[in-house]
Amino acid sequence: MADPKGFLTTRDRELPERRPVPVRIRDYREVYAQRGADEAFVPTLIRQAGRCMDCGIPFCHNGCPLGNLIPEWNDLVRRGDFRRASERLHATNNFPDFTGRLCPAPCETACVLGINQPPVTIKNVEQSIIDTAFDEGFVTPQIPQQLTGRRVAVIGSGPAGLATAQQLTRAGHTTAVLERADAVGGLLRYGIPEFKMEKAHLDRRLDQMAAEGTIFRPGSDVGGEGGLTGEDLLERYDAVVLAIGSTIPRDLPVLGRELGGVHQAMEYLPQATRVVHGLPVEDQITAEGKDVVIIGGGDTGADCLGTATRQGARSITQLEIMPRPGEERPAGQPWPTYPMTFRISSAHEEGGERVYATATAEMVSDGSAGEGRVTHLVVNEVVFKGGRPVPVEGTERRIPAQLVLLAMGFVGVPTDGVVDQLGVSVDARGRIERDDDFATNVPGVFVAGDAGRGQSLIVWAIAEGRSAAASVDRFLRGGTELPAPIRPTTMQVTV
Ligand SMILES: Cc1cc2nc3c(=O)[nH]c(=O)nc-3n(C[C@H](O)[C@H](O)[C@H](O)COP(=O)(O)OP(=O)(O)OC[C@H]3O[C@@H](n4cnc5c(N)ncnc54)[C@H](O)[C@@H]3O)c2cc1C
Ligand code: SF4
Repeated sequence: MADPKGFLTTRDRELPERRPVPVRIRDYREVYAQRGADEAFVPTLIRQAGRCMDCGIPFCHNGCPLGNLIPEWNDLVRRGDFRRASERLHATNNFPDFTGRLCPAPCETACVLGINQPPVTIKNVEQSIIDTAFDEGFVTPQIPQQLTGRRVAVIGSGPAGLATAQQLTRAGHTTAVLERADAVGGLLRYGIPEFKMEKAHLDRRLDQMAAEGTIFRPGSDVGGEGGLTGEDLLERYDAVVLAIGSTIPRDLPVLGRELGGVHQAMEYLPQATRVVHGLPVEDQITAEGKDVVIIGGGDTGADCLGTATRQGARSITQLEIMPRPGEERPAGQPWPTYPMTFRISSAHEEGGERVYATATAEMVSDGSAGEGRVTHLVVNEVVFKGGRPVPVEGTERRIPAQLVLLAMGFVGVPTDGVVDQLGVSVDARGRIERDDDFATNVPGVFVAGDAGRGQSLIVWAIAEGRSAAASVDRFLRGGTELPAPIRPTTMQVTV
């Protein structure tokens, strides 16, 4: 610990400033005016990293699925040694550039300082290290010394597929990433909006991976039309990793669901990103000039909110069926757990109304938005009885909505296509079943990320990818030196 009194002399959290709302909603750039790596912010950053107490038992490690070596890189930043900080960061995380921007930071809610002070700004320190590392040229391709002659296919190019592929390529296996979409990145490419992470960060990582030898094949719908079949995969590759995400969205089977203007979030968000990048879209769904209702109070809903704000919606309402969480940790979720508290994302700062404990009873059309197009929602307040939402009598009301976006989560993998062709088994929750080594019931076929875990987070997808890669390496060579931070059955951090 470079500064044993840092946590006493600096008690407040200091973070880079976000751009003013009226300015940032006029573009799709990231919301921060300043990066942690900017020269003017460095003294603040060093002061903040110096608040780390280098705890004997660093609970932040355990909060992080990757087991990030947080006190080590806090200390190195405190000393201004960004090169070594970057090395220690990459020792456990392939893509701190993604997690530093997008992770909800369970490490911070587990930080020991958080017991009686605001926790260390771990996520910002992480982002600052990786931004500096790229700026200074510390991030270079790690080309394998020798090739094993083994071929691996990774299906899906989200964070799980990319982490798996990078680990296996570096271990010397010839690794191809097959992706259905026209560009690589999974939800990082077409789900998460530009204002949360500019795609340039993804592209520079993909450049590094390509230089290391990973082969990318976008436009490859495995198990679909014109793509390789499950049989082809088993014939051509020594191992296969399914990192196909959890892509079936939860629906809302209410009266009027079939009306025009009602869309799943993942029909809306990818189009919006394509438009920002000047890519072609068919029949663009836009919020411009409309009353927008987003059903679902989570991150996907917030991404729809920020996008609709930038497209110029007339009004935006985000409905959440659960009651509004409190500002403080609930008694049943004490430190160091990740608590359900009221959070304000950058999109919420920008506008829109959040309505809690409210459910949609019906979607209606009065014809004013065009034949068969939604114009209103009928909603009710609800209370939970026996775990089920029950409408409160007398609370029914109509809210205007010419665009309704469903952001209610995902229920698993499609069971047709490659899953069916390979014959891998899927559990009752729509997840591909795997054993403790990420292996499916089909020899040589593994699974990583949301496809096996269910809808989750980027940090878990990377941890799964790293661990699955270790299992594949062991399968191919009889042993491995690759790290495996988690096991599916226990989900414990094991490094
Ligand atoms: C809108 C949205 C916002 C989110 N924001 C955050 C956030 O801010 N922070 C966070 O931590 N998490 C966030 N998440 C969750 C996070 O993005 C996911 O947990 C993570 O991307 C899962 O990674 P994955 O690699 O398992 O799958 P995905 O990222 O879903 O990638 C799977 C890929 O597989 C491809 N694929 C599927 N089937 C085939 C096939 N047959 N052939 C070829 N390719 C195929 C898909 O096209 C896709 O590109 C968000 C999720 C959504 C939907
Ligand atoms: S728990 Fe917090 S204070 Fe302790 S080592 Fe981790 S970041 Fe530092």
